[in-house]
Amino acid sequence: KPHVQEFEYKAEMKQLLNLIVHSLYTHPEVFLRELISNASDALSKARFAQLTDGAESGGELKISISVDKEKKSFVIEDNGIGMSEEDLIANLGTVAKSGTLGFLQAMKEQKEGGKLDANLIGQFGVGFYSVFMVTDEVVVETKIEGADACRWRSSGEGTYSIEKIDKQHRGTRISFTLKDEAADFAEEYRIESVIRKYSNFVDFPIYLDDKKVNSVEALWQKPKSELNDDEVNEFYKFVSVDYQDPLDYLHVSVEGAVSFKALLFLPKEAPMDMMYQQGALENHGPQLYAHKVMIQHECKDLLPEYLRFISGVVDTEDLSLNVSRETVQSSPVMSKIRQILTSKILGWFDTLADEQPEKFRQFYKAFGPVIKIGLNTDFSNREKLIELLRFESTRTEEGQYVTLKEYVGRMAEDQKEIYYLSGESRRQVLSQPNLEYFQKKGIEVLLLTDPVDVFVIPSINEYDSKPLKSIEKADIDFAASDDEKKEDEAVSATLIETLLKVFGDTLGDRVEKVVESHRLVNSPATLVSGSDAMDSQVEKMLKMMNK
Ligand code: ADP
Ligand code: MG
Repeated sequence: KPHVQEFEYKAEMKQLLNLIVHSLYTHPEVFLRELISNASDALSKARFAQLTDGAESGGELKISISVDKEKKSFVIEDNGIGMSEEDLIANLGTVAKSGTLGFLQAMKEQKEGGKLDANLIGQFGVGFYSVFMVTDEVVVETKIEGADACRWRSSGEGTYSIEKIDKQHRGTRISFTLKDEAADFAEEYRIESVIRKYSNFVDFPIYLDDKKVNSVEALWQKPKSELNDDEVNEFYKFVSVDYQDPLDYLHVSVEGAVSFKALLFLPKEAPMDMMYQQGALENHGPQLYAHKVMIQHECKDLLPEYLRFISGVVDTEDLSLNVSRETVQSSPVMSKIRQILTSKILGWFDTLADEQPEKFRQFYKAFGPVIKIGLNTDFSNREKLIELLRFESTRTEEGQYVTLKEYVGRMAEDQKEIYYLSGESRRQVLSQPNLEYFQKKGIEVLLLTDPVDVFVIPSINEYDSKPLKSIEKADIDFAASDDEKKEDEAVSATLIETLLKVFGDTLGDRVEKVVESHRLVNSPATLVSGSDAMDSQVEKMLKMMNK
């Protein structure tokens, strides 16, 4: 009798499984996408191993699904890389990735918000477990080259078992009996429609009871004129694990010093982790293909960090398949591709701004804060990036933007500088007394409310030979108009002097100096920074960080 070992799931895992089984019933078909995508990953790894170190081919690389309506049985099999016993424990038995906890957190938030979306599951690296939406017990039989095959079995209740088995060929076979309410997944038409919906672009053939059901084509290899929006949108959902259509896409075909094709996407929304997790951009970026074979999943060397929210595929003929990760990184081919892509992408944004301003606005709202990182890191594209900047101002409606170009274009002739003021929100900035003078004079002031602004905007220094200046600074020249001079004469010079002395004595060294100013209209006094001082918003943030 073969030896069967019992294992206990970790605590978080029990929580996760419980959630999947009892709360996630909105999109049960997601299980199929997840199992196919795992099979496809395993096949990619096998293909890669074959091409690079001459591993055995094991016949045509493919995914086979077979079902039995009467028995309600479901089997999905691949001849991919397979798993060893250790792999099984690490991949299907523990909280292998931080993804599990992230997923639980997101689920909790969604539940509180009143909606649960099973689509989320694939984004957190816990896709396999979605199988428990449609079955009570799963059997995984798997073999890697050069090791014994194993059978893993679990009912998702708290334990799983592993035993050695006889299995001749490399790959993985997952089998289970469908729950009554999921019995329709034993119907071919149902499976076929789910594959069309989610998995049409898997680049291995999928056979359903020995008939091929997917199309297997490299969409990015088609000429741009032959692409249609529907298939491109489906492809996006497939490569990016997003469930919405992309905001826009770009097809690139370059031939010359380097040759490559690319199909790149702009998501509608920033992924949840984009700005708020340290190093979050590490795990984003398009897929890198060489000669139509995927060689890296999220290739961060293809794009500068500030563009890494762009997903899609880049396929080049100029890298050999057996390049290691390190060689990819340092390859001159990569730096050329990166340079060309960056410039094409910035051009794409620019065209969007011109031709589809509403789309651009949506894009800027989601990714503006990331793009701004580029101002301080990509000096060769700095000018282009500056043109992409958008600001709310004292002349825009809330949520509407002005460019530096527009600002300068509508400046009065005697205005020599571009003015801005920073703060936490539009409302908070608009309530600052420092604005009064500018409002009264009708001078437009840019409102910097993105926390990143104060770190990048001051570094621009000038635009179109006009210095950028915070109106908090003390050295702004506020000329008094004749009317105001008359009003001022009502207050005698000695009175002003006495008043300044009282202020000065009372405040002591808490201020640098006390001066008479024309910058105020309704408020009696205001605090400004010295000309070399830090922006008050930066100061606030630094204080917060030191806490
Ligand atoms: P993810 O695919 O995001 O890593 P999953 O929960 O879908 O998360 O799968 C967990 C892991 O289990 C995979 O990363 C892979 O290592 C392993 N795995 C799952 N299915 C297969 C398969 N068919 N062949 C080989 N390994 C697999
Ligand atoms: Mg998966």
